[in-house]
Amino acid sequence: MNVVVVGGGLAAANAVTELRAQGHSGDIVVVGEESHPPYERPPLSKGILLGSAEPDAALAHPRAWYDEHQVDLRTGTVVTGIDLDRRRVRLGAEELPYDRLLLATGATPRRLPMADASGAPVQYLRTLDDALALRDRLSEGARIAIIGAGWIGLEVTSAARQRGASVTVLEAAPLPLQRVLGDELARVFADLHREHGVDLRLGVRVAGVERVDDTAVVHVEGGAPVVADLLLVAIGVTPVDALAAGAGLAVDDGILVDARLRTPDPHVLAAGDVARHAHPALGTRIRVEHWDTAIQQGRHAARVMLGADEPYARLPYFFTDQYDLGMEYVGHVDATAGYDRLVVRGDLAARQASVLWLSDDRVLAGMHLNDWDAIDPLRAVVGGPATDAVRDPSVPLVDLM
Ligand SMILES: Cc1cc2nc3c(=O)[nH]c(=O)nc-3n(C[C@H](O)[C@H](O)[C@H](O)COP(=O)(O)OP(=O)(O)OC[C@H]3O[C@@H](n4cnc5c(N)ncnc54)[C@H](O)[C@@H]3O)c2cc1C
Repeated sequence: MNVVVVGGGLAAANAVTELRAQGHSGDIVVVGEESHPPYERPPLSKGILLGSAEPDAALAHPRAWYDEHQVDLRTGTVVTGIDLDRRRVRLGAEELPYDRLLLATGATPRRLPMADASGAPVQYLRTLDDALALRDRLSEGARIAIIGAGWIGLEVTSAARQRGASVTVLEAAPLPLQRVLGDELARVFADLHREHGVDLRLGVRVAGVERVDDTAVVHVEGGAPVVADLLLVAIGVTPVDALAAGAGLAVDDGILVDARLRTPDPHVLAAGDVARHAHPALGTRIRVEHWDTAIQQGRHAARVMLGADEPYARLPYFFTDQYDLGMEYVGHVDATAGYDRLVVRGDLAARQASVLWLSDDRVLAGMHLNDWDAIDPLRAVVGGPATDAVRDPSVPLVDLM
């Protein structure tokens, strides 16, 4: 069986690692647009910006690994089309045949056209090259403006403040991360950043971006303009699904795949940020933009290619590090509307706590702040029944396992 993987990111790297680990001996080609071998993105907004992590440490494998494992890794190469009938991918004029095709094309930052058109110093953060360019701009005294108080915007804010830059964050919602975390937890992150000297402006609308000399001037409706040496736009990502759509595969904000990560074409699967997957435990289709999902779905897709029949049922998991706050989250909930009760164990104000989101009868999601022993008990209860013990914050989390 001859496997082609499109996209040289984490899902791709883990798929080919698993194929070889399971003893697959057929040809494997990985085609990735970036010039680097597959790497992990979480350090790009953390250690690499802080100067505490080197780019090579982010690689999924050293470049030599691919030769050693007979994986034909083609970096700096774009797949331009897929012919499902003839089972071939196109790389410009060249064609590659496949028996199984994995689409792991990831996601790309949502653009802000008014910023792009301004000619001002504007940056996005997705790639290692973006991170290295950004690192060079986060110097002592630099003025950084950030549009978007999501995970990436806030992690860059934390790194920039630790490097001595002054940071203004502009967010349209009344609180940062409100949709993911809900008001109570979102306030923890707002307080955290304000305590670290961030000018966090919430509920604001950006009216325009202008270049003045070498600065970006961000105009805000009803407020003072923000003058910055660099403007980072961090307003979310969109899945890179046009290649799949162009081939005739079904897409809807991501490539639609079944519980086993298969598209309706039996030879084609999708994994990672680009896959909208029918989650068997959640009973809904979700597309998850997290590191753990890219790793686990990449591995799972490999096993399905080799004949495994299990659905991908793992719950979403993610983490963040900002200043001295580390947190991990497991589960899935729309925090603006989709839960009935929040149960807090510990002290949110002290940022030492664990939290459970409950519906009437189920535990939908759990998260801890700076309590690294909590993730296993959280994993044990999330997805299970919301018993009286779960609802009672005086019952220690470990006793729920
Ligand atoms: C700065 C940053 C920090 C993050 N921090 C965290 C974190 O702390 N915790 C967490 O859980 N998640 C984090 N994430 C998210 C996590 O990194 C992603 O979920 C993960 O990288 C997704 O992996 P992927 O392989 O699906 O896609 P990607 O990593 O996006 O890889 C896809 C690759 O495919 C390539 N490609 C696309 N189209 C083509 C084509 N036609 N031909 C060839 N190549 C193509 C792209 O260039 C890209 O290199 C972070 C992301 C970023 C950007």
